[in-house]
Amino acid sequence: RKADIECQVVVLGSGPGGYTAAFRAADLGMDTVLIERHATLGGVCLNVGCIPSKALLHAGRVIEEAAHAEDIGISFGKPKIDLDKLRANKDNVVKQLTGGLAGMAKQRKVTTVQGTGKFISANEIEVEGKDGKKLVRFEKAIIAAGSQAVKLPGFPWDDKRMMDSTDALDLADIPKKLLVVGGGIIGLEMACVYDALGSEVTVVELLDQLMPGADTDLVRPLQQRLSKRYAGIHLKVKVAKIEAGKKGLTATFEGDKAPEPQTYDRVLVAVGRSANGGKINAEAAGVKVTERGFIPVDKQMRTNVPHIFAIGDLVGQPMLAHKATHEGKVAAEVAAGLKSEFVARVIPSVAYTDPEIAWVGLTETEAKKAGIAYGVGKFPHAASGRAIGIGRTEGFTKLLFDEASHRIIGAGIVAPNAGDLIAEIDLAIEMGCEAADIGLTVHPHPTLSESVGMAAEVYEGTITDLY
Ligand code: FAD
Repeated sequence: RKADIECQVVVLGSGPGGYTAAFRAADLGMDTVLIERHATLGGVCLNVGCIPSKALLHAGRVIEEAAHAEDIGISFGKPKIDLDKLRANKDNVVKQLTGGLAGMAKQRKVTTVQGTGKFISANEIEVEGKDGKKLVRFEKAIIAAGSQAVKLPGFPWDDKRMMDSTDALDLADIPKKLLVVGGGIIGLEMACVYDALGSEVTVVELLDQLMPGADTDLVRPLQQRLSKRYAGIHLKVKVAKIEAGKKGLTATFEGDKAPEPQTYDRVLVAVGRSANGGKINAEAAGVKVTERGFIPVDKQMRTNVPHIFAIGDLVGQPMLAHKATHEGKVAAEVAAGLKSEFVARVIPSVAYTDPEIAWVGLTETEAKKAGIAYGVGKFPHAASGRAIGIGRTEGFTKLLFDEASHRIIGAGIVAPNAGDLIAEIDLAIEMGCEAADIGLTVHPHPTLSESVGMAAEVYEGTITDLY
């Protein structure tokens, strides 16, 4: 059969992993095709993930800051929320970025093909789009088909009041009572948005803490703030059943501390994401896919089939955009014959809640479990001039050091903009910095970044009292 398109490299999926891989491959001189089933490029992150959620979280933060301005002698009154405008702004942010990607693809002469792609052999993908089927024949392929929200079975998903994260970002209305199933990053970010907009929020989490994976002390300042605002935060509780009725969605809970059944106007289920590896007919190319839809790869992002690579959410945790982009670059470079490898020591995690929680490298829980002799340098933001100035003293900066070498091995920060602050420690870990390197680095005053230097000094014992 004659191919409609022949290329050196095809990239399946245009999320942060896919578009980065396609652009890098084109920059390295490869004749590149990028396949995407949706009309816009950018994948989950740009269209229904990182970007729209942060646009809405920004709106939430403006509302919160205005409400607290009263404490410093300024009052704005009750916010008037124009939902259409809020939605339009979010859509516009997304459009700017996805439009930008389309331009960048064109500039690089990357051929984009819209449609759903499936492997039919180790060198062919068939793309089914609006105007029929197209056969793409390739020398090399990079699979970047991402992940999708887990839809717990048994819930009334045909009811419009049931939402996954994509529906929640649509912001159809501001429900009076919202139940969020899942207290991880995505669930809590959306809870923050709806809380700021005026919903009465209840969060249910199966495990014994919010934001499983982060150290408990990091989560505490957030949990304290949320407990004062939310109708309920129920830990170690399972949602056993949700029934759709005229008055709303009635949830029944299970667990020692399970609350009584309650009726909600909307329910958001954010219990994780499943990899899309099992949906692209990878078998036809001989590519191994695990039962859970992940595609195993080596450090060069190669699958078990040497000329086929895989990147992003579908190669494993953490499912984060910045991991996908770095992997995308490596895959493209190896496909072009370079000797690249994905060898990041650490990948930072950030919850863009209010306050933000960011962590990188080993957590204390992990260090203990691994039996690593570690020491902690902790700096409370109550001792930071800047934190006092902006009225946000609830957080802290915590650095973990290897006791033998004094090298930094992990960190956690709770603060507004903790996600920005963690980047310095990310670099410090990659560079193998010792506590003295961080403590002796002159940080700008007065900023919360000083807390990083101070925490290192606390560990070194060069600060004993927190003046
Ligand atoms: P994806 O972004 O999932 O893209 C895969 C693309 O492949 C999609 O466009 C899909 O349509 C396409 N595709 C799949 N199968 C086919 C096929 N057969 N044919 C054609 N096209 C196909 N991460 C962060 O780092 N920071 C954040 O703040 C953050 N916030 C998030 C908020 C939400 C609400 C959600 C849901 C996720 C968030 N994430 C965040 C996670 C982030 O979005 C993902 O880690 C990232 O998008 C993964 O990139 P990817 O390239 O692997 O795939």
